[in-house]
Amino acid sequence: MLFAMRLLVIGAILLVTGPGSTRGQEPVAAAVETTMATHGDEIRQLAYDGRMATFFAAEKPASADDHFTMVFEKPVIVKSIVVTTGRPDGTGKVDEGALEISADGKMFRKLADFKDGIARGEERKEPVRAIRIRPGATTAPIAIREMALVTDRPVPVFRYPVEFVVDTTDAPELKEWAEDVARTCERAYPIINDELASDGFMPPRVIRMTISKSYRGVAATGGDRIVGSVDYFKNHRKDVGAMVHETVHVVQSYRRGKRPGWLVEGVSDYIRFFRYEPGHLGRIDPRTAHHDGGYRVSAAFLAYLTAKYDPEIVRKLNAAMREARYEEGLFEKLTGKDLKELDDEWRATLQP
Ligand SMILES: [Zn+2]
Repeated sequence: MLFAMRLLVIGAILLVTGPGSTRGQEPVAAAVETTMATHGDEIRQLAYDGRMATFFAAEKPASADDHFTMVFEKPVIVKSIVVTTGRPDGTGKVDEGALEISADGKMFRKLADFKDGIARGEERKEPVRAIRIRPGATTAPIAIREMALVTDRPVPVFRYPVEFVVDTTDAPELKEWAEDVARTCERAYPIINDELASDGFMPPRVIRMTISKSYRGVAATGGDRIVGSVDYFKNHRKDVGAMVHETVHVVQSYRRGKRPGWLVEGVSDYIRFFRYEPGHLGRIDPRTAHHDGGYRVSAAFLAYLTAKYDPEIVRKLNAAMREARYEEGLFEKLTGKDLKELDDEWRATLQP
């Protein structure tokens, strides 16, 4: 299991471009892949998070064939690259390895050697699709602190570094599917976290996703662990949104205090249906719908409040629940109307 996991592409970010961005400056997403297993929570994306204090750490010493590769969604001109390896305490440096680049992501050539843990280079003519670190065989596990890039188009760093660890022991036939889903959830992570940002909050960076035979529902989340049903996902492989919904629960990180279930599920489905997969909500029946219907019904209610009263209302409600200061009166504070009035108003807008 571990060996197979090592070969997978780990993480990518999805980018939202502003309305004013020109074609030439559209950000290019990066993904990090490696043959080396991760040590604890020192995950791959930490090698490109814009911070020198954090780093990717390998679980074991590198062998001659190991690599750590950053792949760009589209080719970019690399005006400068500096790769710094080793932990802040000086251990885990790459001393004899090479830094390589590739125009197509397949054929690589050497750009620079590592010297005292650092490699620098540039390639101003040919667009680059991938940058690869070949540490060579080492006696100790390596650490990659940061890859600093100057490129013609922005390649945003991982602002919310995350790594999903997938367990499909119960259903090996779902392994490939689950790994794909995990990558999708990793790409959705910045969207979820931007929508649900609050002061001083950083989301979990290691999330365990287990596909279980004994679990009877669709999927559930406790802390930073997600469990999904083998039976359900075997027959509903396209329902990736259900796992994005669970990923939102991880980010919500509600630990204490009161919070109504309809709102917890409503926030999660709001992110799913209005940010991750717009247009998939389906019809809401005005005869039966109420704000506290939960899931997609409450999501639609929150979307109404977002459009009519406050574009930040979901973020504010989430922050209140996360900080254990939620109370129903918050709706009146944010909109000037109580939940009963808001409910009537929203229902009147639904199409019969
Ligand atoms: Zn849920």
